[in-house]
Amino acid sequence: MKSFDVAIIGAGVIGASAAFELASEKLRVVILDRQQPGLEASWAAAGMLSPAPDSPRDLPLVPLGIESLKLYPDFVAAVEETSGRPTSYAESGALEVFYSPYGEAERDRRVTECNSLGVAAEPMSIDAARNWEPSIGPAARAAAWLPDEGTVEPRLLMDAVITAAQARGVEFRADCEVTGLVIDGARCRGLKTASDSISAAHVVVAAGSFSSRIGRENDLFSRYAPTRPVRGQMIALRPDEMFLKRVLRSGRGYLVPRRDGRIVAGSTSEEAGYEKRVTPAGIRRILDNALDTCPVLAGAEVLETWSGLRPGTPDDLPILGPTDIDGLLIATGHYRNGILLSAVTAKLIREWVTAGRTSFDTRAFSPMRFAERKQVVRHAS
Ligand SMILES: Cc1cc2nc3c(=O)[nH]c(=O)nc-3n(C[C@H](O)[C@H](O)[C@H](O)COP(=O)(O)OP(=O)(O)OC[C@H]3O[C@@H](n4cnc5c(N)ncnc54)[C@H](O)[C@@H]3O)c2cc1C
Repeated sequence: MKSFDVAIIGAGVIGASAAFELASEKLRVVILDRQQPGLEASWAAAGMLSPAPDSPRDLPLVPLGIESLKLYPDFVAAVEETSGRPTSYAESGALEVFYSPYGEAERDRRVTECNSLGVAAEPMSIDAARNWEPSIGPAARAAAWLPDEGTVEPRLLMDAVITAAQARGVEFRADCEVTGLVIDGARCRGLKTASDSISAAHVVVAAGSFSSRIGRENDLFSRYAPTRPVRGQMIALRPDEMFLKRVLRSGRGYLVPRRDGRIVAGSTSEEAGYEKRVTPAGIRRILDNALDTCPVLAGAEVLETWSGLRPGTPDDLPILGPTDIDGLLIATGHYRNGILLSAVTAKLIREWVTAGRTSFDTRAFSPMRFAERKQVVRHAS
């Protein structure tokens, strides 16, 4: 049986970033993926780096998002330097637009909320916003400017992170589905695939929305990592000339400009199981928003449609940290923010593995919050 310091289940942005970071400590790291690395949610994402909350349920997440945004410049610089590949990282800020008749009041509430959470946001008149982005449509009533936000091109990022991790000596095993763990008493000693077992001092579960489905013969994974898929559909458009300089977002959707001249429009949020179909209703919803936001997009070329499965959790918060099984760490459930949170998650995993504790308070994200709840329910029944 081959032996490693760390074995990671899932080579999405979370697993691959953690592998890259762990390998900087000269640890022997293996990462297994049941298909080719990087082709699930991380491939499908828009790539906005936005710690601003989307709903009240996001509030506990904001400090973690801010921390990750701070780490991002150094994180992508290390990835780009080690891999020799670009990530298209840009610190270009985002404009939020508001459509209701009370748009200015809504905008003011949003700006106050963001600032109270430490997220920089400034009110902007819709005329001033149109000076920056003349394509904003007539329906918009007010705008807010979030100067600190960035973007990255997730497919480039995945390619670069995987290449960088390999350059640091991480062993990737593609088309290698993990089927269970090797548990010895209260200690995890490795993992199992259909054909093999791997011995590892630490196992990290980073299988995105699939985390709860590993080893379906027992409920170990659904106990610590009760993830579910939340489908998001996307469209890539190519206007004759790029007119957008920064992310344009509203409560209805977003437009993200890419350096290669595409504009990525998203997204839906659907409970559709593991079905990755792109639907007429989903596409219509995204296009309606895209054309309301920038009517000039009506003549753009439709280049591509796709969908991905966000790793959702019961409370919409990520699941990060050690379990009550020694050597078993969870890093999943990043839902709408896994690209943003990859930098901080990688750092936290390195700290847990090398020091047994972290420099950031992660108690709100502990996997034990679900495991303990399940035990209570089991005792009660
Ligand atoms: C449409 C859409 C738009 C998004 N936009 C943004 C955005 O703008 N900004 C942002 O920050 N986030 C965004 N996200 C969220 C982000 O994409 C996810 O949170 C993030 O990609 C999750 O990464 P992951 O590595 O946990 O999961 P994944 O990328 O899904 O990777 C999990 C990996 O585990 C593998 N795996 C599964 N089961 C097994 C097994 N048994 N054995 C071995 N391997 C296994 C899979 O093959 C996969 O490669 C978006 C998501 C979607 C769908």
